[in-house]
Order: sequence, then structure tokens, then C-alpha cells
Amino acid sequence: MMGNQGGGQEQLFYSFSLDDHVPRDHLLRGIDRFLDLGELRQHLAGFYSHTGRPSIDPELMIRMLVIGYSFGIRSERRLCEEVHLNLAYRWFCRLDLNAQIPDHSTFSKNRHGRFRQSDAFRHVFEAVLRRCMREGLVAGEGFAIDASVIKADASRARGVPAGQDMKWSEGEAPSRAVREYLASLDVANPAEDDEQAAGPPGGGNPPRTISPTDPAARWTAAPGGPAFFAYSTNYLIDLQAGIVVDVEATPANKTDEVESTRTMVQRVEERFALKPKRLVGDTAYGAAPMLHWIVNEKKIEPHIPVWEKSQRDDGTFSRSDFRFDEQAAVYECPGGKRLTTSGRPTSEATVIFRASNHDCGGCSLKQRCCPNTPNRKIARSIYEEARDVARTVCTTPAYEQSRKERKKVEMLFAHLKRILKLDRLRLRGLSGAHDEFLLAAAAQNLRRMAKWLTPKAEIGKLIPV
Ligand code: SF4
Repeated sequence: MMGNQGGGQEQLFYSFSLDDHVPRDHLLRGIDRFLDLGELRQHLAGFYSHTGRPSIDPELMIRMLVIGYSFGIRSERRLCEEVHLNLAYRWFCRLDLNAQIPDHSTFSKNRHGRFRQSDAFRHVFEAVLRRCMREGLVAGEGFAIDASVIKADASRARGVPAGQDMKWSEGEAPSRAVREYLASLDVANPAEDDEQAAGPPGGGNPPRTISPTDPAARWTAAPGGPAFFAYSTNYLIDLQAGIVVDVEATPANKTDEVESTRTMVQRVEERFALKPKRLVGDTAYGAAPMLHWIVNEKKIEPHIPVWEKSQRDDGTFSRSDFRFDEQAAVYECPGGKRLTTSGRPTSEATVIFRASNHDCGGCSLKQRCCPNTPNRKIARSIYEEARDVARTVCTTPAYEQSRKERKKVEMLFAHLKRILKLDRLRLRGLSGAHDEFLLAAAAQNLRRMAKWLTPKAEIGKLIPV
């Protein structure tokens, strides 16, 4: 039998505490415990507007964004609605029941305007990282590096061939993403180089297709799927607890992704005095110049497989069949002859070792060695010693352990896309990608702290990270 709800209002005034209505085991309570925005207002003091449309309190904006990135709320309009309706979100934002929630257009204007220039999101990310360090979640012994491709907010159907003359300034004023792209082109190709073909701002091969709405995004071929415009989020993580110690946005191409390693390792060392003993990565990071930088300049042990191009699969001898004599600085071939060099480096940072025509001409192994050339040549990187260090590390049990630990960074990317729903960007331009990746990484670190450091009685109930 269904009953009646009861009479009219029995009470005209209520005593109401938001805190009483937020469950003790709510993830936001854990996040709130570790989010300290005390210095943010000071950092943003110069960016307040004292005229025109009133600003949103920076702390409120950051708290709302932390909710958005922690719970996968990707739309700014929906975020404003959710904060209006959800008691836990109001509690986290320090808003009582009567407090006004910012209108979503004011929210967007502030987020895309003053905040963009203030580097506030890096400030938030670093404040969260400092807290992780204080809580003992960052050991600084081993770091892992990896990149993941995230779709840009650019329609693949609107892409145009890269060689086509783009009329950026026609019609309405160019967007922020276009202005940023043109400025980065100026930096990459200064005026005196104008006669040369303009290369991409970051590096790598020029793109074949460009997006008029977000030209810095890279046209990227996904395995087994259609190409799309994308950026890459690059993570440097500490292996102890999988805390992200730095993040960098790049256009989605390997050259930029690998180069971001230097930026992040250097920045973490300068800003936090953190320098790992070992750096773990996949083969993409195993090119000779990068290994040279890691081994010889940074004095870090590379737990990275060497990028090998010398292995032959046509049945002829590979370079590994030749022995390098360090004393004499020559290669010895399988026929027992010497390959010598002039020592002059090529444009690809290699020196070429050659056998003599005389030796090869009369050699019984020629068909298995150099059937189509008069003699055999071997290219040796000028950074071969660093490659040898990496090869030696790859044979150790510690490397096997590192290989397993590398999965931690892959799991963070899976979490980023599946749980935090960051599989497509909402902001355009490299700076937009940067803002989104910084906030998402800060949210991941906060969720991890909330899970790991919440008292045991509550830990089982928290939403898993
Ligand atoms: S072909 Fe030349 S390099 Fe090759 S094994 Fe014979 S002598 Fe040595």
C-alpha cells in the first residue's frame, strides 16, 4: 500500500550544515585534504581585473576545475550545473546553499583569458606535486617517461593540404590557436629563413594535412583507424607510487615527444632538485643522441632499449657480426679483416668504417656480406658508447624490473582516457592542450594521494584511482 507523504511544511526554518551531508568516504574529502591553494591568490594578484566584468575567485575556479578533471566532467556548462546541484561539489568549492555559481560563459571567459596568461595551472600542478613529495610519495630514484596521443578539438573533415596557401586573417580575427601557431612559426622560421620551406614549429617531418581551426595539432595516423588531429601528453612519473612529476604537451609526433624528455628532466631537477638514478622508457627514447644526453650529460642510467637500425633480415651479416676493437678503433669482420675509418662524422652523427676493396674482392664470404657493393661499410654512431651502456643495462635483472614498472605510466594514460574521459581536448592550441594536461595530471596525483593516504578505515570505500 502506498502512503501519503504527510502534511505541509512543519518547519519554517532549518539548520543545515553542508559538511554533515558529504559522506565521510567521499573521494572529494580525500582530495580536499591534500589540495592547498593558499599561494594561488598571491601568484595571481597581477591578473585581477578591477574594471569590467567581475572576476571569478581564482580558488573557486581551480576547485571547480579540479572537480571537472577528477570526475570526468568535460563540459564547462555541465560543470557549472553540477556544482549548482551537487552538495559535495558545493562543499568542496566552499559555497553555501545560497552562494551563486558562476555563469558558464563567465567561467569560460575567465578560464580562457586571464588564467591562460598566468600559468596558474602549472602553479596548481606544482603545488600538488610538492604535497606528494612532502607526503613521501616521490622517492626520486627511478623515473619513467612515455607519451599518449589525445584527439584535438579539430574536425578531421575540415583538414586542408599543408602546402595550400592559408588565409589566416580573412574574415573574423584569427583565433587564439591560430595566433599562437603563427607566432610559433615565426620562432621556428625566422625572417632570414623565409625563402626556405617553413618547417613545423616543433620538429619532425612537415605534416601533410593541417587544421585551419587548430593548426598546431598534428595529423596523426592511428593504427587500424582513420587519421585525426591530435596532441600528445608526455608524462614523467616517479616509479615509487606512480606520481606524475612533470607533464608537457607537444604536437603528436615522435620527435617532439622524445625531445620533451630533456625539458621535463631538466625542469624537475631545477624546480624540485629531483634527479633520478635511472630513467625508464621504450624504444622510441633509445635513439643515440637521447641516450648520449641521458648517460653522458645527465649521468642517469638508461633503462631504455636501444633503437637499432643495423639489424639485417636478408641473410647477410648484420653489424653485430662485426667485432669492435676499442684499442685499435677498428671493426674486425667475420673474415678476420679490418674495417677502418677517416673519423669524419656524417650529417647523421655517424662515422663510416670501410673494408678495403682488395680484402672483400677475394673474400669467400662476400655473398653473405656485401653481395652488391665492392666492399663492406659499417656506420657507427658517434654516441656508440652511450648505446653500449644502454645495451649492458638491458641485460641486468634491474632492467627486467624496470620493464614491468613501465606499465605504471601506461596505466595512468588508460585511467586518463577511460575514467577522467580525457580522450578529446576541449581547448585549442598548444597552450590549451598544456592547460588540460596539467590539470588532468594534478587531478590524477590528488586522487592517488586521497587513495594512498586516507586512513585505513576509509580507504576501501573510496572510488578507486
Ligand atoms: S666481404 Fe669484406 S668485410 Fe665481408 S667478411 Fe669478407 S673481407 Fe670481411
